[in-house]
Amino acid sequence: MRELTHFIGGKHVKGTSGRFTEGYQPMTGEIISKVPLASKAETRAAVENALAAQPAWAATNPQRRARVLMKFLELVARDNDKIADVIAREHGKTIIDAKGDIQRGIEVIEFCVGAPHLMKGEYTEGAGPGIDIYSLRQPLGVVAGITPFNFPAMIPMWKFGPAIACGNAFVLKPSERDVGAPLLFAELMIEAGLPPGILNVVNGDKEAVDALLDDGDVRAIGFVGSTAIAEYVYARGTANGKRVQCFGGAKNHMVIMPDADMDQAVDALIGAGYGSAGERCMAISVVVPVGEQTADELVKRLVPRVESLKIGPSTDASADFGPLVTAQALERVRGYVDLGIKEGATLAVDGRGFKMQGYENGFYLGGCLFDNVTKDMRIYKEEIFGPVLSIVRAKKYEEALALCNDHEYGNGVAIFTRDGDAARDFAARVQVGMVGVNVPIPVPLAYYTFGGWKRSVFGDLNQHGPDSIRFYTKTKTVTSRWPSGTKEGAEFSIPTMK
Ligand code: NAD
Repeated sequence: MRELTHFIGGKHVKGTSGRFTEGYQPMTGEIISKVPLASKAETRAAVENALAAQPAWAATNPQRRARVLMKFLELVARDNDKIADVIAREHGKTIIDAKGDIQRGIEVIEFCVGAPHLMKGEYTEGAGPGIDIYSLRQPLGVVAGITPFNFPAMIPMWKFGPAIACGNAFVLKPSERDVGAPLLFAELMIEAGLPPGILNVVNGDKEAVDALLDDGDVRAIGFVGSTAIAEYVYARGTANGKRVQCFGGAKNHMVIMPDADMDQAVDALIGAGYGSAGERCMAISVVVPVGEQTADELVKRLVPRVESLKIGPSTDASADFGPLVTAQALERVRGYVDLGIKEGATLAVDGRGFKMQGYENGFYLGGCLFDNVTKDMRIYKEEIFGPVLSIVRAKKYEEALALCNDHEYGNGVAIFTRDGDAARDFAARVQVGMVGVNVPIPVPLAYYTFGGWKRSVFGDLNQHGPDSIRFYTKTKTVTSRWPSGTKEGAEFSIPTMK
């Protein structure tokens, strides 16, 4: 079993806290690594390395900083197979899905290569006699990211890419479930020419997170994970005077209108509901067919598709999805399926009996489908985060819209229809941050921003796109007068442009 490390000051560093967690390979259920859990002192060491390195990095011209990211992109492409293999083994997702995880991260790094342009300020010449005004974007200093298990490549890159491009130094605390990709990225960044100390990886749990939240030298925190922890991180981080953005849980609805292309809708649904075993914050977990006929047609087509989903080990290129991340996650999701039956929903497809031949100890669950789910049920209200899809039947469009709007989460949503009026009305009135029209997983591309509404987010700037440059910089506005010799005498009232 391999003992993993932290990555501090440009090199791998062994854990010294004496605390470890076991790293599992979900497809076999084996323990494959020992992951160190950082103490407060180890976390502080990462912050100190970042503090020492950051001023010189901020003073490096932005184009040179961008070139390091360009080189990093080349290296990630070179090592793509290796990184995807590590993700599949630690997370459980299939290799092809792991490559998608890396790709969506790469796209944000590509966007960050444009930081020299994006950081440009504004200038007003002659705002008054001899007076010019200009604004600058300057890095914050040392910033930190706390990321979830489900996208171990993409989300760390969404965090450290813009932060580093803008001249900050970064401390990443990835999920302790899958630290392999973040550690490889830290190595590749050094190979790409990033100075030691600019990207540090501290592995750990609540102790490391709290150390970052309480560290007066950490200026900003970007968090992604479950809503309960997002809310906690936001409250404690902002109470300590930091800039904080936290992205939390989800329950994404897909509304199917009676006029939708049902073949297209079912194809979209099967991928968006069950891909990555439903462990995506943008997975569709609720489908709302409008009208009984639409619902019956949907169930007729969907049931055989769910029954024939191919579940396999992460290395099986033909598998639709792999195992869940841990034995606890498997138990939790199975518990929700048991609960749904108790609550009175109809279990149209039961995946609980699924066993993967040759991988009997892996954390597998077959696809499950509930029909006749109602809005008072816990399986509707809570995030399940597994291969379990719920059908909530709505009589009318307004009822479907109200379901999306009344749910406490508001990350992603989709409508399937051929009616432009309905699509337009839905996009305008739905209380959700990311909307798909005949697109089931509307994750915006890198040059737009990503973020939900309601209890899917805490903070007011989104991830990636232009908001990420705003989040990782502060604005300074300079008012200057040249020539400075103008003599107007002292003025005691507030200066105005007369
Ligand atoms: P999680 O909340 O358990 O963990 C997220 C991070 O917080 C990890 O780094 C973890 O070590 C840390 N953490 C866990 N418990 C903590 C505690 N008590 N105190 C301080 N830190 C703690 O989430 P997860 O299970 O890794 O990820 C799945 C969740 O993330 C789902 O709810 C999913 O919807 C959400 N998610 C949201 C988005 C989004 O953009 N909205 C994206 C991906 C995942």
